[in-house]
Parts: sequence; structure tokens; C-alpha cells
Amino acid sequence: MNDLKDRILALQLQSAALEPGEGERDRLLEELQYYSNNFINSLGEQKAYIGEKADVSTFQIGEGTRTLKEVLEIYSREVAAKGVKPASGGHMGYIPGGGIFTAALGDYLADVTNEYAGISFASPGAVAMEHALLNWMKSLFNFPETAVGNLTSGGSIANMIALTAARDKYVIKGAQIEKSVVYLSEHLHHCNLKALRIIGLEDVVIRHLQLDERSRIDPGDLEKKVNEDKLAGLKPFLVIASAGTTDTGAVDPLKDIGEICLAEDLWFHIDAAYGGFFILTEKCKSMFRGIGLANSLAIDPHKGLFLPFGLGAVLIKDREAVFHSHHHNANYMQDAKENAEVIDPADVSPELTKHFRALRLWLPLQLHGTAPFIACLQEKLLLTKYFRIKLKEAGFKLGPEPDLTVSYFWWPLAVGDENSFNKRLIKEIHRDGRVFLTSTTIKGKFVIRLAILSFRSKIETVDRAMEMILTAKEKVLAEDKDLGI
Ligand SMILES: *Cc1c(COP(=O)(O)O)cnc(C)c1O
Repeated sequence: MNDLKDRILALQLQSAALEPGEGERDRLLEELQYYSNNFINSLGEQKAYIGEKADVSTFQIGEGTRTLKEVLEIYSREVAAKGVKPASGGHMGYIPGGGIFTAALGDYLADVTNEYAGISFASPGAVAMEHALLNWMKSLFNFPETAVGNLTSGGSIANMIALTAARDKYVIKGAQIEKSVVYLSEHLHHCNLKALRIIGLEDVVIRHLQLDERSRIDPGDLEKKVNEDKLAGLKPFLVIASAGTTDTGAVDPLKDIGEICLAEDLWFHIDAAYGGFFILTEKCKSMFRGIGLANSLAIDPHKGLFLPFGLGAVLIKDREAVFHSHHHNANYMQDAKENAEVIDPADVSPELTKHFRALRLWLPLQLHGTAPFIACLQEKLLLTKYFRIKLKEAGFKLGPEPDLTVSYFWWPLAVGDENSFNKRLIKEIHRDGRVFLTSTTIKGKFVIRLAILSFRSKIETVDRAMEMILTAKEKVLAEDKDLGI
């Protein structure tokens, strides 16, 4: 017995490193705060993209230890100074990220207290906070209070939970799968197609709907295809629309699609991961008309509410459909299941244990209110307008007037291959890296995309982007001249 105690005490001494004392905690935090302040203060001067690879060997786990100072040096060199920088206002590629500071405080508090957010029995407060946020979102998107929801790691999982509910509501399994039809736009985010494969619906029939000149679903075509499929003995069951596509930011005609879904008894899912929170702005309210007709909706606070990566959300009206796959009673959970009035997040998601991610949104909303978030979204809409005016003045061709804050442009040529010219232009823009833009292909045309969603993107950022784009364009033009093109 004494020997056992001695061994435990010896191990206790060794494992004490996992619980630094107060002085040590202060010192560590101070170092981190110094680093964070430098990081944020210098963001304006840093590039938004640095096309370098990380030195993999630096990250190897060995027996030795490093000081926080050493770690921060490595971090600064190998992580913060390489690749795309979502914390930078110069990030205008793909769909930009956020990273508001007060969300980091929420994460810090969540990590220190480590509340168990999966089940109400374990942390009634954490779960109530999640429900409060979900109820707020239900009211924003015109969903009934009876809808269920979940705070997820991001849009991909949010979409997957919704599509799983659609599958189970319509009992799409076995021989039904090959006869079941899903309607969507070719501009739909690929995570939805991935989700269909993950949930066993790889072999459903996929119908690509016709789009209008602004890349929005044509509801007439939806109606026509559904009728044809029904006549052919197939089973239409799901329509997936977007409130803000990734390619062009297009918002599909939600009300028209929703009414067709109601009439034809189809599950209507909306992927609003990028565009959803623009519903907070006056300008966009009418565009989102009919969003409440959806059976399910995916949104991404780590995009439209400027949070650091790691927060999506899903809302679903049909609770039973969700519970079919996600609700589970295991014997070892019996204590936790006695109090059944509150819906446990674990019953609406594949996750049991989850990060207490409500706090990273709830805390900023408490500290700031919603007004600065709304102002920031409005600012992004106007910056997009400003950017387009500047591009037009400089002689670029523009894609159609965007619904939200994603748009595209290209440099036109009187003679020569426009696609290859613009491909070289984006390469040059990446080489510069002050502002990060990406490209896409719209109807066979290679175009350069701009996506303004970072809370740190400001007028100066757009001006800097213009300067960079013009320099890059002159460089590519000069190369052509040298080649005699
Ligand atoms: C970003 C995005 C997704 C995927 O969400 P993640 O948070 O990256 O998992 C889905 N749909 C749209 C429209 C998006 O913009």
C-alpha cells in the first residue's frame, strides 16, 4: 500500500506540469497577449497571401519541450507567415473568414471552464446558451420556435445534418435511393454533394436546374423537371437552394422555390452558409423573402458574423426527422436523460462531446450588441459596390450586379486569349499577395473573383487591392509586349 502511494505521489509530481500556478499562468498569458497585440497591430502591413510551404519537420512531436517564446517564434514563422491569412482584411478570396477578438475571449473562457455542452444535464447553462442563440436565429430566419437546431463546427456539418433529416423524413433507403431525385443548381456548394455521398445517397438522381442570367435557379424549370420525374415514376424529394452561392453570391428565388416545394411535397433545404446573415441588413431583407418556407437551413457565423473558424448552425423544422438518426438512448446515459424538457445538442448532431462553441458567439453579442455586426455587413455591401466602380473606371469588365458581396471581373482584350491573360493576371496577383483574390470559371469564362466579408476589409483595403491589380495587369501587358503579342 505504501509503495502504491509513493508511486502515485511521484507521478503526481511529474504531472503537476499540467497545472501551472497562478504566476506562471499570468506570465504565459502576458506573452500570448504581447504576441496577439503585435499580430493584430501589424495585420494592415502584412500580406494576405504568402505562397510558401510550411517546414513540416518543425512540427514533429518529440520527447523534448519548448518554451512558449520558442513556440510563438515557430508559430510566427511557420504558421502566421505562410498561406492565406483569413484574419487579414486583405483576404478577399473564396469566402473570407473573420476572427473578432471578443470571440477569442469566449473560446478562452470555454476552454478554461471546459463546460460539457452536449447535454443539458451536464451543463444546463451551456445548453441554454446554445438554445438562446438558436432561438435568435429562428426569429431572424422566420422559423417557428418549435424548430430544432444545432451549433456545428461549420456549414458542411450543418448541411449534412439537414440533408440527413430530409433523407429520414422521406425514408430514402434501399431500393428507393436510385429512384429518388434531388434538385439543385450547379453553383450549389460542393459540401452538399459530399454530404449526400456520406449519408448513403450517392446513387440518387441529381437534376441540375436551369439558371437565369444571374446564376439563380429558374423556378419554372424546377416545376417542369419535378412533373417530368413524377410522370416517369421517380420520387422527387429534395430541393437544395442557396442564399448566396460561393461562386457569384447569387440568392436563389427562395419564395418561388418554397411554394413549389410546398405544393409538390418536397423537402426544401437552403444553404445560407455564406449569405444568411445579410438578412440582418435592410437592403437584403426582400431578397430573402420566403426563407421561412424552408424545411431546413444552414448558416455560418464564422462567415457572416465574422467569428473565427469553428461555428456553423443548422435549423430544422421537423424534429422527429432529426431524432431518427441522431437521438440515441444508451444505458450509460440514463442519468442524463431524465430531464427531457430541454433538447440535448447531442440529439441533433453526430457529436456527443462538443466544444462549448455557443460562448464564442454569445459573448461578443453581449459585449457589442447586434448593431456593429449589421453595420459591418452593410459596409461590406457598399465596399463591393465601391470596388466594382473602381474596376469599371480602370477598364475591367464586370460580372452582373451582385446580390451580396461576391462579384467577378476580367481584363478584356481586343485581340488574344482573354482566359489565358486573366489566368496570368491572377498568378501575378497571388505573387504580389497584398490582397488575396481567387478565380473561378463562369460559363467557360475564366474570371477573377472578389469576395468581401472580412470585418477588417475597409476602403483602404479596396484601394490597395486596386493598386495591386493595376500593377499586376501592367506587368502581364508588358510581358505580352516583349513577346510581341
Ligand atoms: C463555406 C460554405 C459552405 C461550407 O461551410 P464550412 O463552414 O466551410 O464547412 C457551404 N456552403 C456555402 C454557400 C459556403 O459558402
